Amino acid sequence: MLPCGHQWVDEDDVQAVAEVLRSNWLTTGPKVDEFERAFADCVNAREAVAVSNGTAALHAAMFALGIGQGEEVIVPAITFVATANCVVYRGGSPVFADVHPDTLLLDPAQAASKITSRTKAIIAVDYAGQPCDYDALREIADRHELALVADACHSLGASYNGRSVGSLADLNIFSFHPVKAITSGEGGMVTTDDKTLAQQVRIFRHHGITTDHKQRAEKDSFFYEMADLGYNCRLSDLQCALGLSQLRKLPEFVRRRREIAALYDEGLADTPAVCPIAVRSEVSHAYHLYVLQWNLNRLRVDRTEVFAALRAENIGVNVHYMPVYKHPYYHRIGYEMEFCATAERAYAGLISLPIFLHMTDQDVADVLTAVTKVANYFHV
Ligand SMILES: *Cc1c(COP(=O)(O)O)cnc(C)c1O
Repeated sequence: MLPCGHQWVDEDDVQAVAEVLRSNWLTTGPKVDEFERAFADCVNAREAVAVSNGTAALHAAMFALGIGQGEEVIVPAITFVATANCVVYRGGSPVFADVHPDTLLLDPAQAASKITSRTKAIIAVDYAGQPCDYDALREIADRHELALVADACHSLGASYNGRSVGSLADLNIFSFHPVKAITSGEGGMVTTDDKTLAQQVRIFRHHGITTDHKQRAEKDSFFYEMADLGYNCRLSDLQCALGLSQLRKLPEFVRRRREIAALYDEGLADTPAVCPIAVRSEVSHAYHLYVLQWNLNRLRVDRTEVFAALRAENIGVNVHYMPVYKHPYYHRIGYEMEFCATAERAYAGLISLPIFLHMTDQDVADVLTAVTKVANYFHV
């Protein structure tokens, strides 16, 4: 089975981690600072704070913004559950807004329509690796004095109107899970230009304590204070060394993903039953996912059967994502009547194709053969 996503780790990544194992610092050491500095420079942000995973990064962002009981944060209906869960962790309520039918990105007009007196922030999700319409979202956020957060877990390496993802929102969230653009095993990052927000994220990842061991060592002091209820969600030096080594390869990683996507685009242009997600002209896409919308009006079966047929061809297809409010947990906490029409319609026909670094052109051709075969077979 050809997997849907897979990491690329080579010998210099292994060496980088081995060096840390032989050093004095396995965690809270120099590799953390080095990775943060390199990452901030890479995405053109002033500050980068490394945390244990993308979910912790989202949680830290909600903490830094002071989201609390009864407050609302607008999130797109189609995303990974963690985007909404981070609001619930803080006692707040995610408010689901519908997506644009062509791109499946948060629709700015839909987001605006969900704003109430309790709304504090908008989390935009760069679904599949395509940056959202940040100019429109910024305008709405400013007009209503809301914070703008980018869940950029799919879009490291992408840009919007020539500006890097990571510098487009007040807080920008990344994940280094193995299927993402670069990996540190598990890992996450928050980037921001705001020193105060960055400091809040640092406090959050270290128990709510306002100083770290380096600052205390400088002052020859034992004294520390816990100012708020934080957590331990630090990223170790082992992981930061891997992340740092991977970050150097990001341009090549993104280049190959775009190449695979272009082969898919070309190979599926004459298959009317499938339509790749639209890409807007002002973005450069990072292609974390390559998503097809299957035109169910042109098929005699539903997505479940298409999915099974592609798996039977040994293609490790996947579905990203069911609208978050349809999960049983969200039903239980009061979202059972929620309905975003575009998200529902899109979800019924979504299938993601394999896309990862060491896929060969032959692998891509095999996927195209399977997709056209299945599309033609079920065509009406
Ligand atoms: C991967 C992902 C996350 C969570 O990241 P983890 O590192 O797995 O915790 C959050 N949001 C989106 C959109 C993601 O794809």
